[in-house]
Amino acid sequence: MVNLLDFDRDALTAYCERLGEKPFRAVQLFRWIHQRGAADFEQMTDLARSLRERLPQQAHIAAPPVPSEQGSADGTTKWLFDVGGGDAVESVFIPEAERGTLCVSSQAGCAVNCRFCSTGHQGFSRNLSTAEIVGQLWFAEHHLRRTLALPAGERAIDNVVMMGMGEPLQNYGALVPALRTMLDDHAYGLSRRRVTVSTSGVVPMIDRLREDCPVALAVSLHAPDDALRDRLVPLNKKYPLDELLDACVRYLDAAPRDFITFEYCMLDGVNDDEAQARALLRLVGEHGPAGRVPCKFNLIPFNPFPASGLKRSGAARVQAFARALIDGDGAGGVVTTVRKTRGDDIDAACGQLAGEVQDRTQAARRMTRAPIAIRPAAPAENRR
Ligand code: SAH
Ligand code: SF4
Repeated sequence: MVNLLDFDRDALTAYCERLGEKPFRAVQLFRWIHQRGAADFEQMTDLARSLRERLPQQAHIAAPPVPSEQGSADGTTKWLFDVGGGDAVESVFIPEAERGTLCVSSQAGCAVNCRFCSTGHQGFSRNLSTAEIVGQLWFAEHHLRRTLALPAGERAIDNVVMMGMGEPLQNYGALVPALRTMLDDHAYGLSRRRVTVSTSGVVPMIDRLREDCPVALAVSLHAPDDALRDRLVPLNKKYPLDELLDACVRYLDAAPRDFITFEYCMLDGVNDDEAQARALLRLVGEHGPAGRVPCKFNLIPFNPFPASGLKRSGAARVQAFARALIDGDGAGGVVTTVRKTRGDDIDAACGQLAGEVQDRTQAARRMTRAPIAIRPAAPAENRR
């Protein structure tokens, strides 16, 4: 049995060809699956009867089962997807006035093991398949359309960020078909500017993404120098800051946006000093064509979780740090925003997604946490 969620349009076309079907059949099928949310071939009334009868014998359309949904007081919704073998991953829907964002997971756990990240603390089990990545969007989009009773043609999700569990660029092979499906006009039709891959800095894969499927890029920086970044993001030892920033500059040649977003998790007394903000300006000033990497900073107040041993920077320190970046140095400032924490009452904020991960690396400290309580989703009026 193949899961048709594993296929981008080209792969579905190839599959249909193997069945002796014309390419336009693949487009029809693709639209039924992704635009209409169909899982039942019998529904697909414009497909030839012979194909409708043949497909169920060898193919199915299925997202991972969803054992729980939690709604936050602020309208954020978190789903747990059971991906089998004792692993579960999470996705988060974040409604805002002008857009709906889905935060998608790419791996069960993560092998990068960042010091401040709940997913990292759980260790790594396995890569998700394309079907498991796209399945999060497929489920969430069509589930929200139904529960929010959206008018026909209106979509719930117009922004996807690969910022859930896992390092997307360490699951490149499954990621790219998933991204292509998100962008495809016969599927979700999302704008390249509204699909963001967030990475801790897998340099060779940043270069490949530029070639294969350039979407918006966010890079998790977290430190202005290698000594500190080595400690916070262990991958930095392999791909140090100079190489990472050069890759960012190369990426901009093909990127749909003319800047890179640098994410910076604000950790009390660790990386939140104003002198470190000035060092960041120097760092981005040493790279890039016009004397600086074209970039924006997004400061994320650290979301604590048990076992991290770290504290969130106070609001005044975050503001002072942001101010130092905005005011800048001789070369001017950098646009800087402070990310609003959403869904932290249901452990759905950045870095709090833990799911359930069988740590097959045995490298990371296991974390103990309370079982996930099941609560009803937020009412529709909280959505926008
Ligand atoms: N692996 C990718 C994407 C997932 S993490 C990456 O690291 O970029 C998404 C963002 O959440 C990253 O910027 C990450 O650094 C940040 N993050 C991780 N743990 C966090 C925490 N406890 N509090 C706030 N942000 C956190
Ligand atoms: Fe992995 Fe990103 Fe968490 Fe680091 S911050 S451990 S790369 S998910």
